[in-house]
Amino acid sequence: MKFDLLPILNADGRRLALDAQLDFVGCEEQGAVFLTPVRVTGEFLNIGGRIELDAKAECRLRYECDRCLESYEADFSCSFKEIFKKEDAKSEDEQSADFIILEGTAIDLDEVVLLNMIVHLPLKHLCNEDCKGLCPDCGQNLNLGECDCDNRPTDPRFDVLDKLL
Ligand SMILES: [Zn+2]
Ligand SMILES: [Zn+2]
Repeated sequence: MKFDLLPILNADGRRLALDAQLDFVGCEEQGAVFLTPVRVTGEFLNIGGRIELDAKAECRLRYECDRCLESYEADFSCSFKEIFKKEDAKSEDEQSADFIILEGTAIDLDEVVLLNMIVHLPLKHLCNEDCKGLCPDCGQNLNLGECDCDNRPTDPRFDVLDKLL
């Protein structure tokens, strides 16, 4: 979705509200599948010719648990800031990584929001902090019940005996 900043682009001190729904449903980023549209709310503010965005993105995501491999859903939200500058306003001493140069008057809202969300996505995926995971021998999901395997930690002293027998 293109979002036009023209109403405040040349008006120092002017604000522009943001409230949009972005459709990434079905997309997958770093193990997270988007289940609902992303609601992004916030405000653009022109400060001395540069446009600062202060925004919040919310949606529901589905992950696969790192331990038991079951999928689970969770609400996600993150806040982020972004700075946009007009093409002709490049300044010498600033790092271009700190802001996005505007091409024309509109920004690619999808890209801006998605890139900021990716940075905030959880690296660890657990269906539950206490997830017991899978049995390494038979693959049984131990959250659903114990299996019949002998998973007690073995005493290395008995390994010698095992080999002899
Ligand atoms: Zn799990
Ligand atoms: Zn087992």
